[in-house]
Amino acid sequence: MGLIFTHKNGCSRFCLTTAIAHAKLAAVHSEKGKTMKKLEKIVKVEILKFEELSQTERTLIGLACHARLNAQAPYSHYQVGCALITSDKTVSVGCNVENVNWSETMHAEENAISSAIARIGICRISSMAIVGGPEGQEVVWPPAKISKQKHPSIKSVSDVCLSCGHCLQVIVENCFDENGKFDPTIPLLGYDGGEIYRATIGDAYPMPFLPQHLGINYSQDPRLKKK
Ligand SMILES: [Zn+2]
Repeated sequence: MGLIFTHKNGCSRFCLTTAIAHAKLAAVHSEKGKTMKKLEKIVKVEILKFEELSQTERTLIGLACHARLNAQAPYSHYQVGCALITSDKTVSVGCNVENVNWSETMHAEENAISSAIARIGICRISSMAIVGGPEGQEVVWPPAKISKQKHPSIKSVSDVCLSCGHCLQVIVENCFDENGKFDPTIPLLGYDGGEIYRATIGDAYPMPFLPQHLGINYSQDPRLKKK
């Protein structure tokens, strides 16, 4: 996979890509002469300065930082906080809650989503922030001057730590538009005290298993008001 790096005139925002074309459908010929289809997708991560975030995004990361401090993580010693805003403009937070048998551990993202659903019912995520770091690592918000030693610059999408695969599957369940169709543009923000990064759910989880694959459309649920 190729790596494309663009930089906009001194602005800190840039895109990291691991493929050469977005949703590009190309016909290529196999060695045996048979035609097969090849699907490619760009995976982008934006690296942002504090000033480049919206007020909502700043608030979400701040709330995720606070929630992280409440994490119950005596086994992994890795504390995660999450804050999300749903289409009704309300915010829910979560943190990781570990259990002695590990398999019952709740991740911060699923905690925040469960909290939102318990509070307002079936809901659509508009934006989400995830903050993580080892226990004892101070994650300052608003960001202080970044220590290059503690937080080396992000140079590749593989340097970015967003949600785990389990959580991405949980998140996509509530990433749909008002017609119930998967919305791959929902932003996910990440922060660990170093650089702030943003990806979309569609980029973070490029081949999701969706409710629509089983014929489920949440927008048709009568309990879903215009949120
Ligand atoms: Zn997770």
